[in-house]
Amino acid sequence: MPGFFDTKIEFLKGVGPQKAALINKELDIFTFGELLQHYPFRYEDRTRFYKINQIHEGMEHVQVIAKIRRVETIGMARKKRLVAYIADETGEMELTWFKGIQWVAKKLVPGVAYIFFGKPNQYGRRFSIAHPEMEPLTAAKEGKSQFQPVYPTTEKLRVKFLDSKGISKIMANLVQIAYPQIQETLPQTILERFNLMAKKEALKQIHFPDDPEKLKRARYRLKLEEFFFVQLRLLKLKLTRTEKYNGQVLKQIELVNEFYNKHLPFELTNAQKRVIKEAFADMRSGKQMNRLIQGDVGSGKTMVAFICILIAISSGSQACLMAPTEILAIQHFEGLKEFAELMGLRIDLLTGSTKKSARTRIHGELQNGQLHILIGTHALLEDVVKFHNLGLAIVDEQHRFGVAQRAKLWAKNEQFYPHVLVMTATPIPRTLAMTLYGDLEISVIDEMPAGRKPIQTVHRYDKDRLKVFGFMNKQIQLGRQIYVVYPLIEESEKMDLKSLMDGYESICRAFSQYPISIVHGKMKAAEKDYEMQRFVKGETKIMVATTVIEVGVNVPNASVMVIENAERFGLSQLHQLRGRVGRGAEQSYCVLMSKYELSKDSRVRLETMVRTNDGFEIADVDLKLRGPGDLMGTQQSGLADLLIADLSKDAPILTLARDAAQQLVQEDPNLVLPQHAMVLRQIRNQKKHVVNWSRIS
Ligand code: ADP
Ligand code: MG
Repeated sequence: MPGFFDTKIEFLKGVGPQKAALINKELDIFTFGELLQHYPFRYEDRTRFYKINQIHEGMEHVQVIAKIRRVETIGMARKKRLVAYIADETGEMELTWFKGIQWVAKKLVPGVAYIFFGKPNQYGRRFSIAHPEMEPLTAAKEGKSQFQPVYPTTEKLRVKFLDSKGISKIMANLVQIAYPQIQETLPQTILERFNLMAKKEALKQIHFPDDPEKLKRARYRLKLEEFFFVQLRLLKLKLTRTEKYNGQVLKQIELVNEFYNKHLPFELTNAQKRVIKEAFADMRSGKQMNRLIQGDVGSGKTMVAFICILIAISSGSQACLMAPTEILAIQHFEGLKEFAELMGLRIDLLTGSTKKSARTRIHGELQNGQLHILIGTHALLEDVVKFHNLGLAIVDEQHRFGVAQRAKLWAKNEQFYPHVLVMTATPIPRTLAMTLYGDLEISVIDEMPAGRKPIQTVHRYDKDRLKVFGFMNKQIQLGRQIYVVYPLIEESEKMDLKSLMDGYESICRAFSQYPISIVHGKMKAAEKDYEMQRFVKGETKIMVATTVIEVGVNVPNASVMVIENAERFGLSQLHQLRGRVGRGAEQSYCVLMSKYELSKDSRVRLETMVRTNDGFEIADVDLKLRGPGDLMGTQQSGLADLLIADLSKDAPILTLARDAAQQLVQEDPNLVLPQHAMVLRQIRNQKKHVVNWSRIS
């Protein structure tokens, strides 16, 4: 049933059909409810007055009280302008109008004091304001809000008098009639617990604040509410799923014990042990596991995955591991094959380039249950790939997989959905993780295997290339291998490819005594693999590559990473790339090469890389630099549509909102209690507008 807030904005006083159509088009705002949520993005402080001699260059606006000395018209025809000379007891300045001259001139009475407001510009030693707002001092009303909203608007709207002031006018009409209709959306307990302003009041204050303190409380309340409902939806989603989907009980661990006692080549870190325990608890629980394992590059996710695979197989089911690229799938396969064979388990590899005969054999062995472990790429998702009994599906580096693909994995088993483990090395800040993956359980491997030496990172300018070459040469003589990475970005692919080839040639010239590999996206898969393998085996000393090596490749002897045009990479990508070294016992190095002139952001990125190896710290800086909109997954989570809360700045509020939502779901999972009725109503209201929600899994 359409309610007050669904009313079309054309029926609002001061709007009408024409303006409404324009607002629909320009701001995507159709109803009263939507307009009410068109929040100001800042406020002008009209409480503060300046003396003319306090005005200085670079001020956003000033407000002065001054008398008009003299008014004159300067110039002719189209160049005509009106200038008013004004003064207070500290000095003089000018006001200028280029339009509406006759109309303004009539309102300017010499000798009378006015309040003027606008952006000051300096001309010579004088300041001038073009088209100031003005009001006779005597007319300035007492008690009127002095803290004025500034609304987002567009050029087309401005022409139709819907500049910030115009929007503010219609907003005032709306707030007036809407105020009595606004209902509370949060339960009393939450309002009290966080000492929140009522919804009604918050909406009024956000548009027309009485004072900075009330504005602050209004913003806080609206942000907390926004996060609260996002979290609530995610938690409810998780709840429905755990209620709905039973999971196979996988609780045998004979193979794990055998592996642990006989073959495990190192001691697991405590973090690895903890995460394995968390996953095991899920797998034996009788409910389907949906767990995300977050762990920085090199933290040892693969071993955790393998041990979970052993649990699945001990309990009589099969397991698969899906990687985002062929190179990575091969590497997982070769790494795990060694262990699997020690344990007498059958393991195989399925990718896009698996030959037809092998493919047919694999399909058969999967179905009759002979094959225990299947490693592969997207090829695993094809419908022809059927399992006898898939107990555990692992997805590595999930940011490369779409949500739909995750869902396809689910469908791979008949009676029960398989348990799902998602492993990601994208170190996203905790707050963001719990929101993006709010419907998954999260485990964090927050400890690196012992004995790792932190990678030493330096920043060098292009002009120092010869020194860098000298350093590389020494490292090769010490027996190490080196990656040299070039950016390859789609828009300028041709140029990038050229700079890659130029770089390759100059390296071949400088290191003519050593065999050198090159890998880039334009090469055929077979060629790429051939080159990769040469490098993995140590036959080539330098690997010149584009970011195709970004993900997961493991060559412990490669201990130097040189990144060319480092200023062109994003922070998380730089961190991923750097993670390719530091995998062996030797001291590793990362050299970030850049041109001399750098933007401020580029400089921050490079400095951050030099300062720290901590993926989470890097992710925080990244979030601050880019904002969450760019981060993987925010689109899908509905977080890209946050109206007032800001993921990069409001993390503490998010945490509170999450706790509150969690508590509510525990108390009243179906929101049937009368004191929670408003929450249910708000969810239903939002459902009408949130289209994409169902896509999230
Ligand atoms: P990632 O988390 O980036 O996928 P890997 O699983 O590839 O990391 O592990 C990186 C390297 O660390 C591998 O060579 C692996 O064998 C080794 N490793 C993993 N766990 C440990 C550990 N507990 N102690 C020592 N080395 C380990
Ligand atoms: Mg890995």
